[in-house]
Amino acid sequence: MDALVRTFFVLRVVASRGAGLLLVAAFAAALVTVGSRNEVLAFGGVVALFVLVRAVRRRWRESVLSELEVGTLLATLVYAGLLGLEGGLDGLLSASIFVLIAWMAALSRPATSFFLALFVSGLEGALRHRAGMELASAGFLSRLFFVVLFACESAVLLRAQAARMRHLARVEVDEEIGKLRDEARSYRLLGAGEERAAAREERLERSSVEEIHQSVHYALELLRRTLGLHTAVLLWKNDAGTHFRISELSSGAEDVNDAPIPVGDGVLAVADRRAEAVAMEGLRPSYKVPYYAGSCPVRALAVLPIFEEQKEGKGAPARAQSAVRGLLAIDRLENRAFTKEEQELAAQAARYCHRAIQNERVFLQLERAKVEQGKLYRAAQALGAAQSEQEVLEAGVRAAREIASFDLAAVTVFDDAQKRHEVVAALGTEPAFQELVGASFRHNTGLVSMVVQNRFPLPYRGEFDAEHQVVLTKRFPWPDLPSLLVLPLMLRDRPLGTLILGSKRRHAFGDSVRHTLEVLASHLAVSLSNARMVQKLETMATTDGLTGLLNKRAMLDQGAQKIEASSRFGRKLSLLVTDIDHFKKVNDTYGHDVGDVVIKGLGDILRRQKRATDLVARFGGEEFVVVCEQTDEAGAWLLAERIREELGRTNFQTPAGPVNVTCSIGIATFPEAARDWDTLFKAADDALYVSKRGGRNRCTLWHQRPPASVPVPAAPKSSKPSRRVG
Ligand code: GH3
Ligand code: MG
Ligand code: MG
Repeated sequence: MDALVRTFFVLRVVASRGAGLLLVAAFAAALVTVGSRNEVLAFGGVVALFVLVRAVRRRWRESVLSELEVGTLLATLVYAGLLGLEGGLDGLLSASIFVLIAWMAALSRPATSFFLALFVSGLEGALRHRAGMELASAGFLSRLFFVVLFACESAVLLRAQAARMRHLARVEVDEEIGKLRDEARSYRLLGAGEERAAAREERLERSSVEEIHQSVHYALELLRRTLGLHTAVLLWKNDAGTHFRISELSSGAEDVNDAPIPVGDGVLAVADRRAEAVAMEGLRPSYKVPYYAGSCPVRALAVLPIFEEQKEGKGAPARAQSAVRGLLAIDRLENRAFTKEEQELAAQAARYCHRAIQNERVFLQLERAKVEQGKLYRAAQALGAAQSEQEVLEAGVRAAREIASFDLAAVTVFDDAQKRHEVVAALGTEPAFQELVGASFRHNTGLVSMVVQNRFPLPYRGEFDAEHQVVLTKRFPWPDLPSLLVLPLMLRDRPLGTLILGSKRRHAFGDSVRHTLEVLASHLAVSLSNARMVQKLETMATTDGLTGLLNKRAMLDQGAQKIEASSRFGRKLSLLVTDIDHFKKVNDTYGHDVGDVVIKGLGDILRRQKRATDLVARFGGEEFVVVCEQTDEAGAWLLAERIREELGRTNFQTPAGPVNVTCSIGIATFPEAARDWDTLFKAADDALYVSKRGGRNRCTLWHQRPPASVPVPAAPKSSKPSRRVG
C-alpha cells in the first residue's frame, strides 16, 4: 500500500514537472504532421499564446526543466514561423533558430543548451524527413553543426564573461574592505601590527567604523540645517599624519573632492598648524578650498581643529600632549562671516564627532581586553593544573602560542647565588636549537642577563639584530630571526629567569601582544616557582638532609615494597644495619660538627659501595640501613665487609684533623630470617647487637646469633697517621 501511495506521488511530481515538456513534445509532433501553411500558422499562433501564458505564470529560470520547456516551446514556435511564413526550412529567416539557441545558451544552464540542441536537431530532422528531403545532405549537416556550435560557444563565452565580472566585483569589494581598514586605522581603532586580525575582530572594526559614520553624519546634517550651510565636512588625518581624508560630509555641493588632501594644503594647513579655528569671508570662486574639486562655490568658511591626546602622552597634562587629529570645516554660499556663537556650535558638533570616535575606540578596547582576558584565564588554568616543572613549561609555551605566533621559545632560569643562567626548555623546529637545553652561562651583557638585571622586556622594539646583539652568550648563538622578545619571569620583585620568543615574521611582538605576554610571563614565573617548591618539598620529605640518602620514612615505605616484590618473585633480599662504634666519643672529643663529617663520610662510602638497585637510608644518628635485592647471606656478607673495611681505613678530614672510626654491622636475609619488614629489621638489629657485644668492628649474620659471632680479622692499619676513636 505504502509503495502504491509513493508511486502515485512520484508520478504526480513527474507529471506536474514534465507536463510542460510533454505538451511541447505534442506540439512538435503536431507540427511535423500538420499540412497546409495556414494550418501551420494557426498552430504557431496557439504555441505563441502558450509561450506568453507560460512566461507570465512562472519564473522560467527555476530549473533545467523549466528552461528547457521555454527553449523547446520557442524553438517549436520558430519552426512553425519558418514553415508558415516561408513554406520551408531554408528560407531567408532560416538562421533565426541559431539566434534562439545562442540566446538560450547565454541565459540558461549548460544542460539546457545541450538538450535544446538535441531537440532542435531532432525536430528539424523530422520536419525535413516529412518534406521528403535528404537527411544526409550537406545543407542539413552544416545546420546541425551550427546548432551545436552556437549552443557551446555562447555558453563558454558568456560564462567567461560572467567570471570576469565576478572577479571585478571581488576586487572592488576587497578595495572597499582595504579602505575600511585604513579608516579604522586612522581612527586608531586598530592596534599596531594586527594585520592578521581574526574574523571576529574584523567584524567588530567594521561595525565600529559604521557606527562612527552614522553618529558623525547625524551631527553634520544637524549642523548644516541649523546654520544654513552649503557643506559641513569632517576631515580626519591618516595614521601617518601626512594626509586628510573626508571622513563624513553633509553637503549640497556636487563636486566634492574625495581624494586625500596633503596636510599642508591651503586653509586646512593654517587651522592644522596653528591648532586654532580659522574663519574667512568674502571668498571668490578662484579661492582654493581643498575639499572642492572645482572652483570655490562658497563665500564664507570656518575650519575648526579637533584635538587628540598623543599615544605617548599618557598621564601628562592633556593640552600639552594633544595634537590636531581632525578638522571640521563649515561653509556657506552667503557672504556672511561665521559668528562666535556659530563657531561655538560647530565646535560642539566637532566635540560630539570626536566623542563618537573615542567611544567606539573604548568599546573596541574593552572587547579586545575581553579576548585577552579569556586567553590569560585559560593560560592560568593550564598553568595551575601543571604539577611538574616540565608540565608548567609546556603549558606556558602553549599559552604563549595562543597570544602570539612564534617559531622558537626558550626558558632560562637564573641562579642568584652562583650568578649563572641555565636554559631549562627550548622549543623550535631546528634540532640544534633544542640542544640548547642544559646550556649554562655566566651573568653577562647579553639580552637575557640584561632582562634579569633590569626586569624589563628587551629588545625595546622586539627586533633582533644578530650582528650587534647577543641573546644568551656568544658560545650559544641565537638563530638569526627578525623578531625577538625576552621577557622577565618575575616572582614578586625577584627575577626567576626569562621567557625568550623568536619569530621569522617581522614585527611579531608588537605592543598589542606584548602586554599580554608580559602578564603570561608573570603567571609562568609563579607556576614555575610553585612546581620547584613542590619538588623541593617532595625531596625533603624523602631525603636525609645531611647525607642526601633516603630518610627513615622513605626507607620504611620502599623497604616494605621491596620485600613484597621479593616474596612475589621468590627472590632473596638482605638487610644490613650499620652503627658506628663508640660514636659518642667522637662527639664528646671533637664536637658535633666533626661527628657530622664522619656521618656524612660513611654515607658517601655506602653510596659508593652499594649497587644501583640497593637502597641506602640513614635511619637515625649514626645508624644506616642497606636493602639489597636478589642478594643472599653470602653476597650481603661481602658487601658488609667491603663497607666495614673501607670505613676502617678511611681518615676523614675534619676541622679537628683526620679522624678514623670503625663500625659494626648486622645482616639478616629474607626469607630465612623473617618474612616481613619489622621482623627482618629486628633480626638484623639483633645481629648488630651481637657484633657490638663481640667486640665491635665486625659483621654478624642473623643465623650466627649467640653464641657464635663470626670473628673478623683486625682492621687493617691506616697508612696515614690518624686518630682512632674507641
Ligand atoms: P656504640 O659503639 O655502642 O654504638 O656506641 P655509641 O657511642 O656509638 O653509641 P650510640 O650508637 O648509641 O650513640 C649514638 C650517638 O650518636 C648519640 C649521639 O650523640 C650521636 N648522634 C646522633 N645523631 C647525631 C648527629 O646527627 N650528629 C652527630 N654529630 N651525632 C649524632
Ligand atoms: Mg647508634
Ligand atoms: Mg654507635
